[in-house]
Amino acid sequence: MTSAALPPSSVTVRVPAKVNLELLVGGRREDGYHPLSTIFHAVNLFDEVTVSSAPQWGIAVSGPQSFGVPVDGTNLAARAAQRLAEISGIDEPVHITIRKDIPVAGGMAGGSADAAATLVACDQLWGTRLSRAELEEIAGGLGSDVPFLLGGGTAMGSGRGEVLAPVLARGSYHWVFALSEGGLSTPAVYAECDRLRGDREIPDPSPSAAMMTALRSGDARALGAALSNDLQAAAISLMPALGDVLDAGLEFGALGGVVSGSGPTIAFVADSNEAALDLAVSLTASGTVQDVRRATGPAHGAHVISAPRPG
Ligand code: ATP
Repeated sequence: MTSAALPPSSVTVRVPAKVNLELLVGGRREDGYHPLSTIFHAVNLFDEVTVSSAPQWGIAVSGPQSFGVPVDGTNLAARAAQRLAEISGIDEPVHITIRKDIPVAGGMAGGSADAAATLVACDQLWGTRLSRAELEEIAGGLGSDVPFLLGGGTAMGSGRGEVLAPVLARGSYHWVFALSEGGLSTPAVYAECDRLRGDREIPDPSPSAAMMTALRSGDARALGAALSNDLQAAAISLMPALGDVLDAGLEFGALGGVVSGSGPTIAFVADSNEAALDLAVSLTASGTVQDVRRATGPAHGAHVISAPRPG
């Protein structure tokens, strides 16, 4: 077979969703941003992004969570590919196919995950071979959650979330995610947070001792007690039913629950795989949630699961 007869080269990358175990939000700065202190945690709910050499740029989205995802240049994955091409002086169009399993607009950073996956996939397809630091820098320009999704695991984020530092985190955790009908817009949740805070002076945030101790211990009960999110009150204010979901999960045995990022997904941590299964069944039966998903964390960040064929 000649190389011309081979199927187009393609690379597929699997990328996890994230939950913020702690999301502490400082006061709004003049440029509109809020300084954050967050603990990111990647979980094994994955999107898969395939990039293939193609005569022109294109994008397609499939899978259980594809509804409402843009299939044009505004898709974060397309922006990631274009940005890497620009920076590396590459003029080789790709077709991007996203298989979406991460809930959309749920506070689990699905779009950011696809952007991280696309950077890793294009880097391999084009042979640009950038270092992790170089990829993280490009990622940070695409969105504040994107750098974390390159590496995954459990990590601390500061600045707008894009400045990463390692944390000592032991253990693995069983999660149940309660999904809600409809999404919450991240800017709308921040605006509501500002409104609820009024004129109150908010100090710059730093990680809590309770969360650091819980992560060092690897104890799910301590982690459950330490979960916190400064955007939670704002998310509940915009979507009051979330308060009922939180109450239901705790009543059904969760060790702790928290709105994930800007919501509306709620993350519950459970004691064991069985406890997570029971919790998922009870939440579904209660009728308070639209859907539930189970996952474990930490999970690896964006990683290649198939490489281009040689030739
Ligand atoms: P975050 O937790 O980072 O705030 P999120 O999980 O709440 O994000 P996303 O799933 O990333 O939200 O989607 C937010 C919006 O981004 C969507 O409503 C959609 O219009 C747009 N979007 C652009 N690219 C993507 C993508 N690849 N996947 C999902 N949404 C995308």
